[in-house]
Amino acid sequence: MKAGTLSNRIKSLGIMGGTFDPIHYGHLVTAEAARCGFNLDQVVFVPSGRPPHKKEKSITLAEHRYHMAKLAIETNPYFRISRIELDRPGYSYAVDTVSDFLDKYGEETDLYFITGADAILEIITWKNVEKLLKHCKFIAATRPGFHLHDVNHFPKEFMEKIIFMEVPALAISSTDIRQRVAARRPIKYLLPESVEAYIYEHHLYQVD
Ligand code: ATP
Ligand code: MG
Repeated sequence: MKAGTLSNRIKSLGIMGGTFDPIHYGHLVTAEAARCGFNLDQVVFVPSGRPPHKKEKSITLAEHRYHMAKLAIETNPYFRISRIELDRPGYSYAVDTVSDFLDKYGEETDLYFITGADAILEIITWKNVEKLLKHCKFIAATRPGFHLHDVNHFPKEFMEKIIFMEVPALAISSTDIRQRVAARRPIKYLLPESVEAYIYEHHLYQVD
């Protein structure tokens, strides 16, 4: 959509990228904290199609990850989901996604890319990071096990585009959830019940 259409009324948009294999409360708490803390009109969850940093690992089918994220955001009227990275061929790069959002919403919409502490520590390695930081700001959330002060070695022009945000500490990770399911340990209360039900219904992460 271009200038003058409905999507242009959005002044500030959060982009929550992730593999979401599966989505869990750590992702949802972070997105909601960013929305409220920075007055974002919406947060769009963008499941990664083919994450370049996880190419060696086998990740769950994109459609399953997309559906789980869709179920998880259902109860929040400010959350949206996008297929942009699923439908784009090749590896998924944040810089391409942000450029696509910029084309869609125009210059009047401020874009905020939301990440956890572990992801922000890696942005220096992301494709075309200079262009990425030109088009959006980053909101970096605290995450148990990672230290945001480790970004101190980043160049000044990077630091100017990163806003730090404290969120309630949730030591939840998708890796742990996958391991729990494989070991038949509980995942209840780590992620929405609808996502838990989807995992069991589709026999995801089980090894038998
Ligand atoms: P995996 O263990 O498979 O890497 P993950 O739990 O790290 O999964 P991702 O999909 O890799 O989830 O993460 C997407 C984004 O959400 C990243 O920016 C990550 O830092 C952030 N994130 C994930 N879990 C948390 C959490 N518990 N608290 C804060 N941020 C989180
Ligand atoms: Mg991760």
